[in-house]
Amino acid sequence: MNLTLLITGASRGIGAATAKMAARQGYAVAVNYHHNAEAANAIVAEIREHGGTAEAIKADVSTEAGVLHLFAEVDRLLPPLYGLVNNAGILETQTTVADIASERLQRIFTANAIAPFLCCREAIQRMSHGGAIVNVSSLAAKTGAPHEYADYAASKAALEALTIGLSKEVAAQNIRVNGVRPAFIYTDIHADGGEPGRVDRIKDSIPMQRGGRPEEVAEAILWLLSDKASYTTGTFIDLTGGK
Ligand code: NAP
Repeated sequence: MNLTLLITGASRGIGAATAKMAARQGYAVAVNYHHNAEAANAIVAEIREHGGTAEAIKADVSTEAGVLHLFAEVDRLLPPLYGLVNNAGILETQTTVADIASERLQRIFTANAIAPFLCCREAIQRMSHGGAIVNVSSLAAKTGAPHEYADYAASKAALEALTIGLSKEVAAQNIRVNGVRPAFIYTDIHADGGEPGRVDRIKDSIPMQRGGRPEEVAEAILWLLSDKASYTTGTFIDLTGGK
């Protein structure tokens, strides 16, 4: 395929599953990570063992310097950029709005909303022959995540507004911009929220009675990026087990 897909936050979870699946579909993959070089290098090694092309690129997308470095490295190391998955996202310990600290709001909104804005800006500057972007939102953008992470939910709602607005700005340039809304996926993000067993606690309230796998989200991301979704832009796929 000789086209590059950049996935932010691809050292674990949904990003890592998407990176491995994308490589099997023929993309050259930029595996961005922040802290976990060992995990990112393992993903790259696995892709290369199967004959694929991948590079691990350390960059903190919460800073503009990190975003600029990331895209400069993609330009330097890999074929032309076709696609971007704004996957990197963070949450913090469950809390209520009554107790929220302004520093936390800065961190959450910077990582989950401002970083994707900057990555979209850099990506579309490189997509002169078209391309595709998928933003990884969350069911929380619709529920507001009360008593858990209203800040995270609000940052994902901002990401959804970016998705819709940008999709209309660049549609005539043959760039499609869509989103996915996962929920209750078995990854380590729930431990960051202070409850590693959160999916199992909630699963009985999910119509499908189970949590989701990262690969089930990756399938939707890769469909939205592909030519099979050639008339689809400015929309979202829910991966929530029916919730
Ligand atoms: P995860 O397992 O916590 O992985 C997060 C990834 O993002 C890691 O690879 C981490 O890299 C990277 N990352 C975090 N901050 C970064 C930064 N500033 N710069 C670069 N990379 C950064 O998360 P996940 O569960 O797979 O979630 C992926 C996306 O899906 C997130 O946007 C999340 O909000 C969304 N989502 C997940 C669920 C769910 O149930 N899991 C539900 C709804 C939405 P390092 O480890 O190298 O630092």
